[in-house]
Amino acid sequence: MAINENEIAALVQQVLNEMAGNAPATRASASNGVIPKTSRVAMLTEKGKFEIQEYPIPELGDDDILVKVEGCGVCGTDAHEFKNDPFSLIPVVLGHEGTGEIVKMGKNVKLDSAGKPLSVGDKVVTCMIFKDNPDITMFDLNKQNVGGADVYGLLPDDDVHLNGWFADYMVIRGGSTVFNVSDLDLDSRILIEPCAVLVHAVERAKLTNILRFNSRVVVQGCGPIGLICIAVLRTMGIENIVAVDGNEQRLEFAKRMGADKTVNFMNHKGIEALTDAVKDAFGGYLADFAFQCTGSPVAHGNIYKFIRNGGGLCELGFFINGGDATINPHFDLCAKEITLVGSWVYTLRDYATTFDFLKRAIAIGLPIKELITHKYGLEEINEALKTNLEQKGLKIAIVNK
Ligand SMILES: [Zn+2]
Repeated sequence: MAINENEIAALVQQVLNEMAGNAPATRASASNGVIPKTSRVAMLTEKGKFEIQEYPIPELGDDDILVKVEGCGVCGTDAHEFKNDPFSLIPVVLGHEGTGEIVKMGKNVKLDSAGKPLSVGDKVVTCMIFKDNPDITMFDLNKQNVGGADVYGLLPDDDVHLNGWFADYMVIRGGSTVFNVSDLDLDSRILIEPCAVLVHAVERAKLTNILRFNSRVVVQGCGPIGLICIAVLRTMGIENIVAVDGNEQRLEFAKRMGADKTVNFMNHKGIEALTDAVKDAFGGYLADFAFQCTGSPVAHGNIYKFIRNGGGLCELGFFINGGDATINPHFDLCAKEITLVGSWVYTLRDYATTFDFLKRAIAIGLPIKELITHKYGLEEINEALKTNLEQKGLKIAIVNK
């Protein structure tokens, strides 16, 4: 079999890497050392329609990394952009919950954002594109979330085109946050981004000083966010958890994820009956702390009733604008002295904490990887997004062969 130009280039790169003291390429490489000239991307060309398009893989800059995409989760944000283009990004390559293998690196790339060495063959995730903002660093805890930063998968199309994880290859440009997560398997890596949202929410909750080992915690909403919330609490040693949802299947999963009791709101007419059911589930007590994980304004109004005087609430359900919620500030907030925190995405530190959370969750037997209920190939992406919009399953992922 004749050896082609690309293979020679890969071999030379491998020898150079080894000379530079990088890890020898003993790992099985996703690319087998062959980098094609073009890459497929799923381009959202109009509302409700991805087109598979092919673009040349560009020359890499000295600070850039070429990644062969292995998989990427479908986020609620992707589904909203797919349906209505609220961010006015079309045409755009979406997919920000992605992971893949480094197949080529610019000569200046040596370390990831946490200081771990990077080499060809390593598995990576990206977090955000650093914009020289001194307030956003890895080690300033909770100083600033990354809500305002750019992320791959939500960038306007440009002449690189390989800007999102719904593709065969992606170019990580210099100045981006990138983490070496070679010690996590593919499914865990696909779950990092949504899990980081919950690691951050629990860090926010801890700032209230109300969350303790023996706290009674209510988690309202058992979609992926609520279910991961329960898992994060369990890895912290909090076990007295009551999950609230209207879907029996999701409540069953909540139990397997570590909820002690569940309440199906469909079985209780009115907020008083529902509050009594939550109280019964805690053996006659209201919750010390609550996590609101739905996007429903009515659910936000309800959750105060489940919390005891002096208790705490973390609201993290509104990643999109769901409209105004009505509470009675006199009864719900002031008289009860509720300590309320909102939570939004994560900090870089939370992202790194999440790698350890996933290992711990798996080690104590939580079925975290079962959150991925559907896997589709890149060419099936329209179907994948429709499955997400129909709210079938939990986490939908695009997985490349
Ligand atoms: Zn997301």
